[in-house]
Amino acid sequence: MKILVPVKRVLDANVAVRVRPDGSGVELANLKMSMNPFDEIAVEEAIKLKEAGIASEVIAVSIGPVQAADTLRSALAMGADTAILVKTDIAVEPLAVAKILKVLVERQSPDLVIMGKQAIDDDANQTAQMLSALLGWPQAMFASQVTIDGGKATVTREVDGGLETLEMPLPAVISTDLRLNTPRYASLPNVMKAKKKPLEEIEADSLGVSLAPQLKVLNTAEPPARKPGSTVGSVAELVEKLKTEARVL
Ligand code: AMP
Repeated sequence: MKILVPVKRVLDANVAVRVRPDGSGVELANLKMSMNPFDEIAVEEAIKLKEAGIASEVIAVSIGPVQAADTLRSALAMGADTAILVKTDIAVEPLAVAKILKVLVERQSPDLVIMGKQAIDDDANQTAQMLSALLGWPQAMFASQVTIDGGKATVTREVDGGLETLEMPLPAVISTDLRLNTPRYASLPNVMKAKKKPLEEIEADSLGVSLAPQLKVLNTAEPPARKPGSTVGSVAELVEKLKTEARVL
């Protein structure tokens, strides 16, 4: 079984985000970029399936600037077998990403695409659903448990108020939720080995997919600053403040 894992290069989750003075977006220059955290979970799940003898090959793919090769090397260091970088300097929107992934799926014929539920930069939560629709494949989003057996995937999903378990035939698209697993750290020997693993580069323009943005960011703003807190002297005072100041009682 072949698994395709799309991974996006995003601003590192531990970097304090600053809005550009002109409100056109957030500062990215000279800041640490990393693999989208939900994609690390997807890579981990794919590697686990390979270690369990269920998958035979894990292919990581990223659409982005030439620096996204570093993100792919991280996936290779975790244990992916090969990688594909689809190069573009345009900030590609979810629909275009899904269309590019469809072309790669048609070329690579994976049995499963497992990807993050959400990229932490655009917070779109759209690409996996769009890819499944474009391919006409079943989808299970926000997976917190995945079992593959006999050409079927059984996926437990976190839904409002509980868990839902779905079964679907392969090929299929799965998106990962936070509690699916804890991604491994790549060991130094594996980081070295990853440098020799195959990484194919493709120009995005060669795939026949329109990358033209369909959305325009009108403004990006910092959230309002939090008001400073205060210490109360007694429970009675707290209750009084909750009634009169916060007006929540
Ligand atoms: P989004 O719909 O933008 O929130 O992204 C959901 C998931 O789609 C991410 O977690 C990635 O797995 C995948 N994805 C989105 N953009 C890209 C990209 N440029 N390259 C590779 N994968 C991507």
